[in-house]
Amino acid sequence: MILTNNIWKIFYAMLLGALFLLSSMLYSVYTDISERHHSQIEHYTSIVENAIHADLYEKEIMLNFIGHEILNQQKNNTINYISTFLDNFLAENRKLAGLGFIGVDGKFRYYSSNLNNLNLENVNFLQDENTKQSFTRVLSSEQMLLGRTYYFEAIKKWVIPFRKTIRDKNGTALGVMSTGLQLQNSKNYLIDTEGLENKEILIIRSKDKEGLMYRQYYSKKGINFIDYYNTPVSNEQMKLSLKEIQYRYPNLTLEKLRKEPKSISFLLKNSKNITMLYGLKFDPIYRHWILIESTTDEIRGEFLTVVYIYISLFVIVLILFFILFKKIATSENKKSAELIYQAEHDLLTELPNRVYMYKHIIEWRKYHSDKFHIIYIDLDNFKNINDKFGHKTGDKVLVQVSKRLKKFISQHDMLIRQGGDEFILLTKSRSEHKLDNYLKSLITIVSKEYFIDDKEFRIGLSIGVARYPLDASNVEELLSLADTAMYEAKKVKNTYSLFSENLRHQTALKADMEQELRAAIKKNELYMVYQPQITLKDGSIYGVEALVRWENKKLGYVGPDKFIAIAEQTGLIMELGEFIIRRAFDELNSIKEKIKQELRLSINISVVQFMEKSFLEDLLTLIELYEFNKKELTLELTESLSIEDLDEVLPLLNAVRAEGIEISLDDFGTGYSSLSMLRELPIDELKIDKSFIDTIVEDEKEKSLVRNIINIGENFSMKTLAEGVETQEQVRILKENDCDIIQGYYYSKPLKYEKLLEYLLSMKS
Ligand code: C2E
Ligand code: CA
Ligand code: CA
Repeated sequence: MILTNNIWKIFYAMLLGALFLLSSMLYSVYTDISERHHSQIEHYTSIVENAIHADLYEKEIMLNFIGHEILNQQKNNTINYISTFLDNFLAENRKLAGLGFIGVDGKFRYYSSNLNNLNLENVNFLQDENTKQSFTRVLSSEQMLLGRTYYFEAIKKWVIPFRKTIRDKNGTALGVMSTGLQLQNSKNYLIDTEGLENKEILIIRSKDKEGLMYRQYYSKKGINFIDYYNTPVSNEQMKLSLKEIQYRYPNLTLEKLRKEPKSISFLLKNSKNITMLYGLKFDPIYRHWILIESTTDEIRGEFLTVVYIYISLFVIVLILFFILFKKIATSENKKSAELIYQAEHDLLTELPNRVYMYKHIIEWRKYHSDKFHIIYIDLDNFKNINDKFGHKTGDKVLVQVSKRLKKFISQHDMLIRQGGDEFILLTKSRSEHKLDNYLKSLITIVSKEYFIDDKEFRIGLSIGVARYPLDASNVEELLSLADTAMYEAKKVKNTYSLFSENLRHQTALKADMEQELRAAIKKNELYMVYQPQITLKDGSIYGVEALVRWENKKLGYVGPDKFIAIAEQTGLIMELGEFIIRRAFDELNSIKEKIKQELRLSINISVVQFMEKSFLEDLLTLIELYEFNKKELTLELTESLSIEDLDEVLPLLNAVRAEGIEISLDDFGTGYSSLSMLRELPIDELKIDKSFIDTIVEDEKEKSLVRNIINIGENFSMKTLAEGVETQEQVRILKENDCDIIQGYYYSKPLKYEKLLEYLLSMKS
């Protein structure tokens, strides 16, 4: 999950980077295109300015020539021809509105005949206030001057007037040649240059005396001449233009601009608020601004083409990368989902495990409105299957068991493989009665026979149940309580046990006991008692069984059947076992010395203790240390030991026996040893369990059972010892049946050292 998140983060970062790159690339492309158009328009502006300048200059020469020609004709007195000359000239230059020669006194001398009806004889440029100034300016100027574009009534046309002062060799003014260019708003009206499609030419006059700038010419079609030529360029327009120019050329003033030898270019919104591209150049001779106007459509068009290409490429690359990232993310997601599955599931049974349980328990509890049971399931004697048939078969059994469990549970239950042969089932809360039925059917279903590899298996299960909120408030504790209850069920096997207050009490007591037991040896709270064993034939003493006792300050007297089990579970049994052997050897040695008589010692050895690797070695060391006669030693092992791990136990038993130490099978009859097994075991004595002796008097069946045991002993040449004999009647029956040895309250309770000594001495006498 984390990885995929990171991948998308990388993708977004890349996307952001790519967007930034794209935009900076587009920006640079735009700048390139725009700059190219700027320099292009500057180039055109220069060409146009040059062309217009040349054209004006040509007109100036033309006016000068006509002026001198008129003066020549005047000198040669061929004045009559002048009018014809002008008319001819006009006919060849159709763009001209008319030609006139004005004397330095301001009066018309000659003019073309198209102006005849204007009463030009009455016009005096010097006397008319409207024309006086400009006429004086023309007289004082070396150059041809262009007047404001105006509407010429005589021919009903808009014209651009030109005036040129004609001078003699000394520069003295002889007259003024005047003409007007008929205005046509066509581009090649003034010049004929290629590349001016989509472009317009503008001429704006330099500031006049009042500081006003009037337009001279605009090639655009459809403009209103009256508005356009009669109103000066507004101040606002001027300022705006200057601002835009300074945006591109900082610090450039109008003054500097006039002297600028190169064309410049800039962007400016036109009256329709459309941004246009302009080229600008000042003609210092004829004192006007030449402007080339172009739309920015081409810039935009070129730019958009690039934008389309770039963006398409960008999108394609992006899509490719997206697909790539998507693929990586999906595969990573899959991988991490697999990892999570593996971490949360048991691979053998495919059941969820504890990790899963802890992860999902909160939502699960919510679903069950927080009332539920935790059921702890442990298969009985599963180890046997593993040992006898191998782990592969064991695994197959587990898979089958989990399949049955899966089938049994409902959709909303949570079944966990806790490990090994243990399962945890979380299920909804039920009444005790319903729970009882539920668990019974669970046991029935799981303990039905299994067929694996052509073999039939039966497996029991022990179940412990803890209930929320009845037993505990957190899952961890509930699990441990269910586990405790399960151990309770294990005592019986193939059954269930509900956790109870009684069990809680027992558990607490057990914990207490464990704690106290750890300190018991050091505190000298443990001691030994000995119960005499009598040879039935002659009533003589055969030996004693050593039994351990514990008197604790806090717990009072604790029976060995209770604390031995705890010692076994906690590992304390090793220390305890050694104490028992030492103490028994020590006290028996002392007693034998005092009674000067042979006496057998029977010591109870816990299974756990016996299975410890160094058991025999340690025992022999102690025998040597206490110089105890091992020929007089019997080890009492419970019957349950013999069947559990025969292969392991048999060599051990043989080794013990090889040392001359005898082995007694304690609690005989309660276990499951078969006759054939008994034959294999190196056993010296069968110790018939008290439960048989208890009923031997009343129950004929029990009597014959005991008889059978004694017969078996005889057949396998094993001694038979009856324990828990309390009455004379029992003794009589046992004697009748040839039982060898008797032990029980009838003769004596287990006795402390001193009492035993007393007992034995009294027996002798
Ligand atoms: P066990 O080995 O079967 O011991 C016989 C038990 O029966 C003893 O109980 C003994 O006091 C009791 N008993 C003997 N004769 C009679 C009788 O006539 N009537 C009745 N009602 N009881 C009789 P105890 O000493 O409480 O021992 C209980 C069990 O604790 C023993 O069963 C044995 O399994 C274990 N145990 C006792 N001492 C030791 C020990 O030193 N080492 C080991 N490993 N286990 C011991
Ligand atoms: Ca015993
Ligand atoms: Ca016993």
